[in-house]
Amino acid sequence: MLATVLALLLLQTTATARPTQQRPAARPPRKPAPAGHLVYLCGGSRSFAYHAAPGCEALAWCTTSLRKATVAAATKEGRYPCGRCRPAR
Ligand SMILES: [Zn+2]
Repeated sequence: MLATVLALLLLQTTATARPTQQRPAARPPRKPAPAGHLVYLCGGSRSFAYHAAPGCEALAWCTTSLRKATVAAATKEGRYPCGRCRPAR
């Protein structure tokens, strides 16, 4: 219990000590992809994202088969762009 409070205090102090660094756009934007661009989906029913590349680290969790679809098709399925590999919307 005390340890938790201490940990929280520590977190707060480190957070305030370091002013919020404005991260410049993490990665330079990849080449723009048209809606017909192919993206990768995990076939599992618990997957909700689509990915720019089959090698995305988020896809490492995929326990079912990988499949390809267009951005338009993926969006229609209710998939959203992966936050890690940032495919085109
Ligand atoms: Zn991804």
